[in-house]
Amino acid sequence: MAVQLQTHASPARAAQLQTGTAPGTADSLPGTGRSRILLSPPHIGEEEQKFVREAFETNWIAPLGPNVDAFEAELAAYTGSKGAVALSSGTAGIHEALRLLGVGPGDRVLCSSLTFVASVNPIAYQGAEPVLIDSDEATWNMSPAALERALAESKREGRLPKAAVVVNLYGQSADMLPLLELLDAYGVPVVEDAAESLGATCSGKSSGTLGRFGVYSFNGNKIITTSGGGMLVSDDMEALEKARFWATQARDQAPHYQHSEVGYNYRMSNILAGVGRGQLRVLDERVNARRAVFDRYREALGGIEGIAFMPEAPYGRSTRWLTALTVDPAAAGVTTEELIARLAAENVESRPVWKPMHLQPLYGKCAYYPHEEGVSVSDRLFEQGLCLPSGSSLSESDQDFVIGILLHALNA
Ligand SMILES: *Cc1c(COP(=O)(O)O)cnc(C)c1O
Repeated sequence: MAVQLQTHASPARAAQLQTGTAPGTADSLPGTGRSRILLSPPHIGEEEQKFVREAFETNWIAPLGPNVDAFEAELAAYTGSKGAVALSSGTAGIHEALRLLGVGPGDRVLCSSLTFVASVNPIAYQGAEPVLIDSDEATWNMSPAALERALAESKREGRLPKAAVVVNLYGQSADMLPLLELLDAYGVPVVEDAAESLGATCSGKSSGTLGRFGVYSFNGNKIITTSGGGMLVSDDMEALEKARFWATQARDQAPHYQHSEVGYNYRMSNILAGVGRGQLRVLDERVNARRAVFDRYREALGGIEGIAFMPEAPYGRSTRWLTALTVDPAAAGVTTEELIARLAAENVESRPVWKPMHLQPLYGKCAYYPHEEGVSVSDRLFEQGLCLPSGSSLSESDQDFVIGILLHALNA
């Protein structure tokens, strides 16, 4: 179980666990001479080491320092948010955002069901109750129709949700304007889980900046990485100052150690912020590279019966963080599971799409609102969904190798 969670959280680490090698290093099947092709390995640029070296040379080896301040300012400038707080993970960012919104024991919090468990766990950390919302076919993200029913029913019961965590999946923003219109009408503030969508846009803005709070992740498998880390963004500078305070053990202004609130050890280190500054400088290149990977897959496989790629919504640009598609076994003659096994046999890592939270042992008893009564879109996406190797460093020859295996398995 622990290993399975690891494999979802970090494909590079998963490869390490499975094969006993460091992520991204050569690990060949006997006789093939080909390295393992990973789902989404880290891709380091030119300047990360310079910023890390500066941290060492100036002895700023701490959870504060000039790289942390600069990374916050540079990311805020990139996304167009007023401010940013660098944290030890994206999960920490969601947790702090929910606390800032006053979420506490007994409260309801809406959340997309088709996501990684880290979107929902912070709701549980606060002792609140997740209410799970299905996806829309057109975006794979939160369904406005399902959200509307959830809000109307909560109102009827006199228990309006305290907040909503809207997830932007696989590099694509949710359809934020209609979702925000509904949530605003009921006075429910939004935390955007933009862990997978840094670099994407929605309605002319950076994905992650349309809600009250936005959260990015720099985990090892994300589009840019600090090996582990996160960022909380907002236009509410006072709230961000509070988040910074909680993230450093909530130390009161006093000459001695004094505390009047519960805090956390959630700050990003000055070394890792140096990695982040270098990575941010190549983010646009990484987005373009991932989009090019997606385009090559679609060109090679898009015409095959039973194969449907995750659509790109008209309201914004996706980063195509992961190339995701569905395989209809009735039309394609093969299941997603079989394709994953065929790829694994050739030392290629691929994954099903996230298992929805309403199907998890952990959150299966939570209230769930499908797209339409009796029609759960995320159930089908989970049954048929497949994520292919999508790294920005994936070579054309490696991608052709993956495509060749798929064409063969699909009899195309
Ligand atoms: C990666 C991820 C997170 C968690 O980010 P960490 O930095 O690993 O804590 C949260 N939500 C989604 C959708 C993610 O993909």
